[in-house]
Amino acid sequence: MSDAEADARPRPRLLPLLEARAVSRTYDDGAVRALKDVSFTIAPGEYVAIMGPSGSGKSTLLNLLGALDHPSEGEIRFEGQSLCGRTDLDRFRARTIGFVFQSFHLLPTLTALENVQIPMFEGPLDRRSRVRKAEELLCLVGLSHRLKHVPQKLSVGERQRVAIARALANDPLMLLADEPTGNLDSRAGADVLDLFDRLHRERGVTLVVITHGAEVAARAERTIWIRDGQIDLLQMPGGAVTRCAV
Ligand code: ADP
Repeated sequence: MSDAEADARPRPRLLPLLEARAVSRTYDDGAVRALKDVSFTIAPGEYVAIMGPSGSGKSTLLNLLGALDHPSEGEIRFEGQSLCGRTDLDRFRARTIGFVFQSFHLLPTLTALENVQIPMFEGPLDRRSRVRKAEELLCLVGLSHRLKHVPQKLSVGERQRVAIARALANDPLMLLADEPTGNLDSRAGADVLDLFDRLHRERGVTLVVITHGAEVAARAERTIWIRDGQIDLLQMPGGAVTRCAV
């Protein structure tokens, strides 16, 4: 077969990891339209930032992408399968998605090592394996010297790194982060972003990060801008930017 014939052959298209299809979300019996007809795809291994002013619908979108909430219209698809009507969403979330929040959500009475083990309790690992894995994850985020510290004895940057280690506990395909550097000073924020870079590059984790910060979005491969519940600008893989809202 010639090169030209080989080029002309249909190629299998890589399935998106995540797809929003004409997604809308209303609250208060339709009085608040937080998201309106939003569509985009995210490929496996991508690092995508979602930006927009306060109240534009970013957290609503992240909740839908993370199967914490359901669209009023449209659907979210994961690896080509609709999440609508799935009855195992708790299990799906636990195995597939790691969440990182602005305010860490660590349990205050537990040590770093114990906090990181929490998502593993439902899984197959025995106690010894859980502890070993939590130690490895805390080592990965640069906290091998803080295993026995409770959150209050950690800096805010260290708390966020514990939260990231916890988000990685079940080897998720994807991390969803809502303003992960919002409570951090610039040094600690840069450390978290360096860590995201490594997870993306070395572990192939898909990252979706909501942010107000241009320095956060600058680390991502592309950015989706949201305004008034609609995609305003959509940066495509490769960098070209499409204006969507009219
Ligand atoms: P962002 O994350 O960009 O700040 P949100 O997704 O939190 O925006 O909110 C989008 C819009 O939806 C806002 O007008 C907000 O007040 C409204 N909203 C969000 N959550 C709820 C809710 N549970 N009930 C009613 N309105 C909500």
